[in-house]
Amino acid sequence: ANRNLFAILARNFPRDPGAPLLESADGSIRSYAEILDLSARIGRALRAAGATPGERVMVQVEKTPEALALYLAALRIGAIYLPLNTGYRRDEVEYFLADAAPKVVVVTPGSPLADESLMKDHGARMLTLDAEGRGSLMDAASRQPAELEDFVCDDDTIAAILYTSGTTGKPKGAMLSHGNLSSNAAALHEIWRFDPRDRLLHALPIFHTHGLFVALNTTLMNGTSMIFLPRFDAAEIVRLLPRATVMMGVPTFYTRLLATPEFTRDCCRQIRLFISGSAPLTVETFNAFKERTGHTILERYGMTEANMVSSNPYLRDRVAGSVGFPLPGVSLRIADDQGRALKPGEVGGIEVKGPNIFHGYWRNPEKTKSEFRADGFFITGDVGRIDERGYVHIVGRSKDLIISGGFNVYPKEVETVIDALPGVAESAVIGVPHADFGEAVVAVVVARPQAALAERQIAEATREHLATYKAPKAVFLVKELPRNTMGKVEKAKLRETYKATFA
Ligand code: ATP
Ligand code: MG
Repeated sequence: ANRNLFAILARNFPRDPGAPLLESADGSIRSYAEILDLSARIGRALRAAGATPGERVMVQVEKTPEALALYLAALRIGAIYLPLNTGYRRDEVEYFLADAAPKVVVVTPGSPLADESLMKDHGARMLTLDAEGRGSLMDAASRQPAELEDFVCDDDTIAAILYTSGTTGKPKGAMLSHGNLSSNAAALHEIWRFDPRDRLLHALPIFHTHGLFVALNTTLMNGTSMIFLPRFDAAEIVRLLPRATVMMGVPTFYTRLLATPEFTRDCCRQIRLFISGSAPLTVETFNAFKERTGHTILERYGMTEANMVSSNPYLRDRVAGSVGFPLPGVSLRIADDQGRALKPGEVGGIEVKGPNIFHGYWRNPEKTKSEFRADGFFITGDVGRIDERGYVHIVGRSKDLIISGGFNVYPKEVETVIDALPGVAESAVIGVPHADFGEAVVAVVVARPQAALAERQIAEATREHLATYKAPKAVFLVKELPRNTMGKVEKAKLRETYKATFA
């Protein structure tokens, strides 16, 4: 049988072609039939523009129903779908254009990438799609018939290249196969108990694995609909939650909802599941959410290269600060730097293997080689431990590990202590160069509104709870932490800002 992700999803599409797929904030509906029709036309238009199987279709567009049809179109013709963060500016898109060498590029008119001379230099055909779902792509699509034979492929055929978030360095292009995506969609669909009554509230961007694959593919595999919002807006979420049954978000969605007084237990009455991922959900947010709504957020863990890796259980305990158990079919181990498995409870590198793991970094075989063990496990770059009940806990990223005076300091341990101090909203702990210690622990702290906090007082308080080598040698109070679109704290930026603290 065809292992094309689209063909697999299509087996579960509703029998009634008029069944809704997308609902917008104003209540207008796009049916399955409409979006599928559109995807066939767009697929033909892309192919006519040069997107033959295996060629990249680079996309930097706003979140619209047409953009969803474009994603499905690329799958259907066997092209490699390559979405870019809409926040990327001129220098960044030039880098991606050169790296990805796409045949077709779909852009928002007026954006840095919408430049014919740039396209000419890179041998790409440009088509446009604006925030209203109009443009030359749609013009070309409207001239095509709505019939398409889906490209037949196997599990190992590459479906997409997604660039990582660039939290620790330059974004890397992860090659994901149809099998990577379909196996993960099936696993999530099962463990999160998607059923025909579900309606997903979708406010995530669709250029990242979370909003694109986790949210869209599980919904499509379920054959149900979603409320499709161009961006996160707390007031809109509050208004629309009563129409949804599931919501997926990054932790900042949940902290922003908690900061909205209108967000009450009442608006969550229809919801059966709140899911969080892409960055750590603090124990505090987890607890505050439970208190406000009665709901226990289900936290899961994943990454661009591996899709989703682990999840808290649907029925059993959802443990705050934990990312739960490996998904069905996924092996996860905690290993030392040689890839040898450590004992339960010990802290080490998180390594994973399974049908979810990507097929390597695009045009970077050396990097691919260095991130895999001989036995096929992928080195995630995250550091964690497994507790006595089998729950996985993430302690941090190996790149963020601080070595001070020869001792390992895990930033999260220090952050947890600081975050628990009265008056602290959140914190980020980093290592900066230090002549004696190699690296010194530095804490960057955000105070709660109206809290009178002193930097010295924070440093002293942490010394009561932590060994001297873990306690920050300097504390800085700031208004907010630098975060990227997925809500991840940009520690590389902080290290740069504070690098001369002890110079
Ligand atoms: P780059 O690899 O370019 O530095 P990135 O790793 O942030 O960027 P993504 O693939 O978007 O890019 O993010 C995956 C990472 O996000 C994981 O490796 C992990 O560090 C973090 N992450 C995801 N979910 C969670 C979670 N529930 N708790 C803590 N961290 C998480
Ligand atoms: Mg990463």
